[in-house]
Amino acid sequence: EQEVNRLRNKLKLNVVGKNVPEPITYFDELPIKTDLIDNIKSSGYKEPTIIQRQAMTVMLQRRQILACAPTGSGKTAAFLVPIIHHLGGPQRKGFRAVIICPTRELAKQTQRECVRLSIGYGFRIHIISKVEKAMSLYGPKSSQKFDILVTTPNRLCYLLKQEPPAISLSNVEWLIIDEADKLFEAGFCSFRDQLEQILQACTSKNRKIGMFSATFTPAVDEWCTENIKDLVRVTVGQKNS
Ligand code: ADP
Ligand code: ADP
Ligand code: MG
Repeated sequence: EQEVNRLRNKLKLNVVGKNVPEPITYFDELPIKTDLIDNIKSSGYKEPTIIQRQAMTVMLQRRQILACAPTGSGKTAAFLVPIIHHLGGPQRKGFRAVIICPTRELAKQTQRECVRLSIGYGFRIHIISKVEKAMSLYGPKSSQKFDILVTTPNRLCYLLKQEPPAISLSNVEWLIIDEADKLFEAGFCSFRDQLEQILQACTSKNRKIGMFSATFTPAVDEWCTENIKDLVRVTVGQKNS
């Protein structure tokens, strides 16, 4: 226990939560298939970044997380690897993971990284581009042959608001809010309402939330305190108290 604390202090890894698993040092320590570890290494990632060392082990235990680490520290793979592991392979249950990004450009980058990390898994990884197309593609009569959705919030909420809803999130296991600090900013003041709407559509009792942010932001932290049970907070760049 003391040893783990010393390691976290050395890494400037601040962790708050009950029974938080230890950070890893090498990707090989992750309890995941070697195929997935190979995909990580094929991406050119030799060693996990500090946020990856801790956030991956937390999410692999299906614990909900608020992860704060600077821009460029590899937060995308930190949440994608556990998601890919948990989903395991394609199914016909509609989207089982949803990743919300503040911009379309970020959504595209995240989709690309997801495709790269999940080579061999056969997932259907979608982005909502044209709303009209999405209405028929994801609607109640569709095949439900899709697994992972990466999107900006407006488009998703537009589909959810249709009568009947033009997309189902009832089998979502992981809801990721990426760049949460940006999404909660004043310019996105309606995001709380949108998030409320999205959460209401994620009716599965197995639904878990992951919040990722470049900075520790009080608005995000408060939302997490109010809405997430048994939360693990991980902040990089700050000493453990
Ligand atoms: P963030 O979301 O924290 O801003 P990204 O996930 O966009 O960071 O990653 C930033 C860059 O670092 C990307 O080019 C990504 O491919 C790369 N990267 C991620 N993880 C690693 C790693 N473990 N080793 C080397 N590069 C990595
Ligand atoms: P996002 O932030 O998701 O990228 P945009 O700012 O690009 O959203 O605008 C997309 C939003 O505009 C949709 O979510 C919807 O609310 C509205 N919208 C887009 N296309 C249509 C449409 N064909 N009919 C009605 N509203 C639309
Ligand atoms: Mg990012």
